[in-house]
Amino acid sequence: MKKIIFLLVVVVSAFSAFSQKFAVNKTDEEWQKILSPEQFNVTRKAGTERAFTGEYWNNHDKGKYYCVCCGKLLFSSDTKYESHTGWPSFWQAADKKNVGEKTDNTLGMERTEVFCTNCGAHLGHVFNDGPRPTGLRYCMNSAALKFVKD
Ligand SMILES: [Zn+2]
Repeated sequence: MKKIIFLLVVVVSAFSAFSQKFAVNKTDEEWQKILSPEQFNVTRKAGTERAFTGEYWNNHDKGKYYCVCCGKLLFSSDTKYESHTGWPSFWQAADKKNVGEKTDNTLGMERTEVFCTNCGAHLGHVFNDGPRPTGLRYCMNSAALKFVKD
């Protein structure tokens, strides 16, 4: 009997771990209440804002960039650079554990998607054509970020 209860506990916790993949977990309806349509489309539906239209591609102020959905620290102006792409670009994450990566095969190409590990928000993609010292280009959507001046 003890064994069966133990097994049940294991199964139940495995299921709850699966359904709560992220610390912050909301339904689409809940996200839509706190995000603008553009922010919702980018972060929850893996959309991409049009180049040169976002709030931060040309932002040169010193400060930190946080997840627009959950407020986790993602990037710093210290690693932001001019990529001339029309999207805010960084050569390093401010806190690597908050910025996850996974393979994205949509649009007929293999890219590396970048997401917030706290809430699952889609942020953009990371490419290998960035500047030194990392050689990385985190190509982000302004709509996924919330900038706070230092
Ligand atoms: Zn987040």
